[in-house]
Amino acid sequence: MGSRSPPSPRTSCSLPEAGSSHLRRAPLIGVLAMQGAFAEHIRALEASGARTRVVRSAEDLEGLDGIVLPGGESTTMTMLMERVGLLGPLRAAIDQGLPTFATCAGMIVLARDVKDGMVDQHGLGLLDIAVRRNGYGRQVDSFEADLDVAGLEGKRFPGVFIRSPLVESTGKVEVIATHEGRAVAVRQGQIVALCFHPELTKDLRLHREFVRMASNNKAS
Ligand code: GLN
Repeated sequence: MGSRSPPSPRTSCSLPEAGSSHLRRAPLIGVLAMQGAFAEHIRALEASGARTRVVRSAEDLEGLDGIVLPGGESTTMTMLMERVGLLGPLRAAIDQGLPTFATCAGMIVLARDVKDGMVDQHGLGLLDIAVRRNGYGRQVDSFEADLDVAGLEGKRFPGVFIRSPLVESTGKVEVIATHEGRAVAVRQGQIVALCFHPELTKDLRLHREFVRMASNNKAS
């Protein structure tokens, strides 16, 4: 009877080197979930390869690689964020470069100047645009328009406009899409903001772009 050779140590199995691309974790994107269309964004982000976390308090901002500010009702969102102490920490995080993707009410919350607020609206004030709430009309005036979005490959993007803000003027932002001569998508550093709702379409290109942007911004 020959003696059995000892089992080879488990450490001998080869592991991919740390830092190789397939070990890098998917970016963690927070979705502001005070109210509004946050579930649709979570679905679109996960389908685009991100991990997600609902954000309802300042603690939820910890460790995020990006954040989505969804559509909904900007006055309610701002008021709830103020109430739970999230507005200030969120402003600080975005100001320090947290990649941010805002749609519709989210764009209003970010804007420097908001007209037609039902109540005095002191949102984040970080995005250098002036918007008029419901500037395209009420719910019944909702419409779709195919948009040329700078940097997007392929066909035009289906823009779904629902009680959207009208961008009345822009400052130091890059306009990445227009509709009838008005900006409907803008970029300012690590912020991308849209008047329309990509999360209500099957087209994931804008979410994928944002996930890539958050990924590139990751420290590791
Ligand atoms: N009209 C809403 C507001 O002022 C935004 C609408 C939307 O997000 N679809 O906040």
